[in-house]
Amino acid sequence: MKWKRMELPRSVVVGHGALDEVGNVCSSLKLGRKGLIVEDPTTRRIAGERAGEVLNKSGMKVEHNIIKEASLEEVEAVEGTIADLSIDFVLGVGGGRPIDVAKCSSYNRDVPFVSVPTAASHDGVVSSQASLLGPDGKTSTAAHAPIAVVMDTGIIAGSPHRLLAAGCGDIIANSTAVLDWELAHNLRNEFHSTYAASLSEMTAEMMIRNARDIKPGLEESAWFVCKALVSSGVAMSIAGSSRPASGSEHLFSHALDRIAKEPALHGEQCGVGSIMMMYLHGGDWEEIRQALLDVGAPTTAAAMGISTEEVISALTRAHEMKPDRYTILGDRGLSSEAAERLAKTTKVI
Ligand SMILES: [Zn+2]
Repeated sequence: MKWKRMELPRSVVVGHGALDEVGNVCSSLKLGRKGLIVEDPTTRRIAGERAGEVLNKSGMKVEHNIIKEASLEEVEAVEGTIADLSIDFVLGVGGGRPIDVAKCSSYNRDVPFVSVPTAASHDGVVSSQASLLGPDGKTSTAAHAPIAVVMDTGIIAGSPHRLLAAGCGDIIANSTAVLDWELAHNLRNEFHSTYAASLSEMTAEMMIRNARDIKPGLEESAWFVCKALVSSGVAMSIAGSSRPASGSEHLFSHALDRIAKEPALHGEQCGVGSIMMMYLHGGDWEEIRQALLDVGAPTTAAAMGISTEEVISALTRAHEMKPDRYTILGDRGLSSEAAERLAKTTKVI
């Protein structure tokens, strides 16, 4: 490889009342005079409206675009708004969906994107990856990293604890993602970055070590998880792919998204996946399980509201989700007998 490009956010503001800084952030980065806020009805009430007022005070004009879901259709509609109203920059205000739609539409229209998460439920709030609903279900697509991230820990601490616990699960999942990456490097000579892998692994380790301090409604907990999500996002930026934070446990989650009648949250599924994949890697799966219990994230199929059959089926099909992402699941995946044994041994079913 002759050269490599790392796309990193230029400004990251984390803390109490950070939302009030959104005007300063956008004007200091000279993003332009006309912003578009992508939000859903709930996040508009929680933060979108306020963000608009703050931007107005900084002399910027703001339009609002309320979305229902993170779908290709919504992305196209927002792209239309960006073009029709000559929008200079886009803010995604929300947990997951508005962020994904804002990220993709701004990328397609080549305008900067500012991420304003109202919950810390997955590392997509900082990364360049987005997850969208297409005709064949949910798919992850590459877009661009946010030029700025504004994380108001007061707002995030006020979101349901289930979301924060899911964010912890997505970070703990880095433990198995880095093992899969190393395996792909050793067996397939895939590009590997020791810096990116170490950063990602350290972030997961810190989360596991501090799991017992993650408490509902506590702003320090929200702060800790936000910093971990930023660090995980930076690891992905250094790698130039989601590799450091997405391995076999993410493939399991993608499979559940397709198979399960009612999938659980992304971070919840990745956390549970990480318990099982750590077992396959021969690592300390019980430590992962305990950390998830400590933060209040599910560790069983029942706690995720997913059936035994769906878990087994997702385990056997996970390797098909991204055929070019080599992991411990290999090219042929698990047999259903092995899948059942794995899920039973690790107390998932
Ligand atoms: Zn994830």
